[in-house]
Amino acid sequence: MEDLFELDKKHFIHPTSSIIQQQTDGAKSIMAKGDGIYVTDTNNKEYIDAVSSLWNVNIGHGRTELAEVASEQMKKLAFSSAFSTFSHEPAIRLAKKISELTPQGLNAVFFTSGGSESNDSAVKLSRHYWKIQNKASKRKIISLKRGYHGVAAASTSITGIPEFWDMAGHLMNDFLHAETPYRSTTEKAIESLQSMIEQETADTIAAIFVEPVQGAGGVLIPPADYLEAVREICDFYNILFIADEVITGFGRTGTMFGMENWNVVPDAMTFAKGVTSGYIPMGGVVVSDHIHTVLKEKSKGTLFHGFTYSGHPTAAAVALKNIEIIEKESLVTNAKERGLELQNGFQKIKKESSIVGEVRAIGLIGAIELMQDSATGQPFTPDVGVTPAVINALHERGVISRGVTYDGSNILCFAPPLIITKQEVNELISRISDAILFVQHQLG
Ligand code: PLP
Repeated sequence: MEDLFELDKKHFIHPTSSIIQQQTDGAKSIMAKGDGIYVTDTNNKEYIDAVSSLWNVNIGHGRTELAEVASEQMKKLAFSSAFSTFSHEPAIRLAKKISELTPQGLNAVFFTSGGSESNDSAVKLSRHYWKIQNKASKRKIISLKRGYHGVAAASTSITGIPEFWDMAGHLMNDFLHAETPYRSTTEKAIESLQSMIEQETADTIAAIFVEPVQGAGGVLIPPADYLEAVREICDFYNILFIADEVITGFGRTGTMFGMENWNVVPDAMTFAKGVTSGYIPMGGVVVSDHIHTVLKEKSKGTLFHGFTYSGHPTAAAVALKNIEIIEKESLVTNAKERGLELQNGFQKIKKESSIVGEVRAIGLIGAIELMQDSATGQPFTPDVGVTPAVINALHERGVISRGVTYDGSNILCFAPPLIITKQEVNELISRISDAILFVQHQLG
């Protein structure tokens, strides 16, 4: 297996990874197989996949039903175009299914192959929507600091984490970032949003993008009235509200879509990840009846936007089977119930450890914040490297998790597959507790 590690260093440029770390230490783990909430590496070490890989393997690993449906569809019609009004049954059926699952009034779907493409598409569709109504000046996009929306052209700029803009240039024109309610209050965050709109003027703003729960920013759950207030602002200023449901869609937060936790209906939702549980790339944008009507009535002809793989038949067939499993196995309810147990487990860890500050979860997405002294709220300084230390301790104990250290925070993120059992939640909590106490002890 040494050979694979060497080949990895020589030939594989990893996404969102430290190339220095790769060249110095080699690949962290080379995964070979998965089953349920577990993945196993080439050294035969088994791990709990406690972030569902990239928050996406909602139905867990090793579901052969998806392999079978992909195989059947590939044998029948692996690929066929959806350009120029050509169509095929899997995409039609999936669009119908998604429109049934999304909140009322969201009934038409544009397909992509992932979250970044979905958000870039939503930017272009929202600008197009205004343009065909003779309001081409409405182009600007507002999103939130610490938000993550992907790495394609527009989605890099919707993202509110400056490191992503700086990687190959700078923030594009017409993208603005308002305060997130994290470490702030709803009032302050809404004030920041409103003063930004007033300053820029609403006739220049196309849309506001918000994740119902900011995932990569550190599992930041908005305060109770925040998303409702954003909806009101959008209505008042005539701005489209676009919910990025790439992580929160398909059951993650204990409801089918994240926005349902707040009973807020956006004008469009972007989705990816959980729609196929990562078994094959797929994503999309589902738009409101109003947007769809405007597109139907005001478009001059061809919609000059489409990916080769928009509505890919094999991906659509896999998505349909994945959704069938989510429904048949009541995984949305399981996410809610196991999520409460996860939260209780986090509370228990907080009581045991002096370096655990705030803990939170909504459904099966949660976070533990680390603090130098949780009693006084004193944060760790970055030189301590507490988050990587705990992530490594977890890795040694067979848990794959994710650390967030932007902007001085030390956040451990967890989002296990939605099929997790009560017993597996307990096992996960016990390993997390052990890893945190080990690091706490080491720090003295
Ligand atoms: N939006 C959110 C909320 C995400 O978490 C991600 C990826 O993590 C994306 C968009 C980008 O999706 P993709 O990596 O499939 O392009």
